Amino acid sequence: MLQDQLKRPLRDLRISVTDRCNFRCQYCMPAEIFGPDYPFLKSEQLLTFDEIERLVKIFVSLGVKKIRFTGGEPLLRPRLSELIERIAAISGVEDLALTTNGSLLKKHAEDLAKAGLKRVSVSLDSLDEGRFSEINGHRGSVKAVLEGIEKAHEAGLKVKVNMVVKRGANEEDIVAMAKFFKERKQILRFIEYMDVGNTNGWKLDEVVTKQEILEQLNDVFPLKPIKPNYRGEVAKRYQYLDGDGEIGVISSVTEPFCATCTRARLSAEGKMYTCLFASSGTDLRSLLRNGADDETIQHCVINVWENRKDRYSEERNQYTKNKPKVEMSHIGG
Ligand code: SAM
Ligand code: SF4
Ligand code: SF4
Repeated sequence: MLQDQLKRPLRDLRISVTDRCNFRCQYCMPAEIFGPDYPFLKSEQLLTFDEIERLVKIFVSLGVKKIRFTGGEPLLRPRLSELIERIAAISGVEDLALTTNGSLLKKHAEDLAKAGLKRVSVSLDSLDEGRFSEINGHRGSVKAVLEGIEKAHEAGLKVKVNMVVKRGANEEDIVAMAKFFKERKQILRFIEYMDVGNTNGWKLDEVVTKQEILEQLNDVFPLKPIKPNYRGEVAKRYQYLDGDGEIGVISSVTEPFCATCTRARLSAEGKMYTCLFASSGTDLRSLLRNGADDETIQHCVINVWENRKDRYSEERNQYTKNKPKVEMSHIGG
């Protein structure tokens, strides 16, 4: 079995299908930096559906079982459902998911479900239109995201909602969000604000920790920890003591989970990354476009994975935030 230097197998592949987004979340693509002159990838630089399908088959042959589409905003990629249909048909792909800001989900949910998508994670950081707008760079509305969630649910997709909690931005929304999604029996996951990329001006004291989140919730809705669904699940699970549903907390800053990290990432222009906080990736697109056969590409991926030692979140300290890192919108969250 393929293993990296820390004996972690390769199980998940996150594929970014675009580096563009219709939001400008301050913690991901601050509008001051991702402005009209930002050098986004051109369409000929993006992997084609044929290229993505070919790479997925190669990754599956090396142990990948779960595929997640992300971005930028993946629903901006034209005809994404066609790609999903092609990937769903690959034998060995056991799980197919999408992470989206939800703004275009109402329009696409049915096609995505028909194409074979199983699960969708929708990002939503507040139910308050004013605060949500402040966070996303005045681009999207809570109403549209909630309609997208509703439509996805109706289409038969399993929906989880992700909320990044940043001090000074939305910690006052923790309880309101929990209440709202508890009543709808949907799983809400709180994400600690991370030092991804080099543009969001991350500061440790802006991280609202898992402990703080749980303290706020426990005052209103007492919780108890429950077992992970599977080894390596990134969210720590908690059940409401009244039996009415559960939440998750992704505490990558205060409780890193690198030891069980089995994820590789493929950027929209075909670079393979072995960590969310990587500085550089391996160019698979050149191999694809220079006529390399599957075996050559497979060996390249094996070589990258076998040399992998990444454990950034375990090594995080006051200096690592200045290390050059690829942007989250580029690598895919
Ligand atoms: N645009 C889609 C979305 O927002 O869901 C997919 C891509 S986005 C980069 C993936 C996830 O990363 C989102 O849930 C987003 O909230 C999260 N994210 C982005 N920047 C983050 C940061 N600095 N810390 C923690 N999570 C972050
Ligand atoms: Fe866009 Fe998602 Fe980043 Fe927000 S978190 S700017 S929605 S890619
Ligand atoms: Fe995986 Fe890197 Fe995150 Fe650690 S820091 S869990 S190695 S992506």
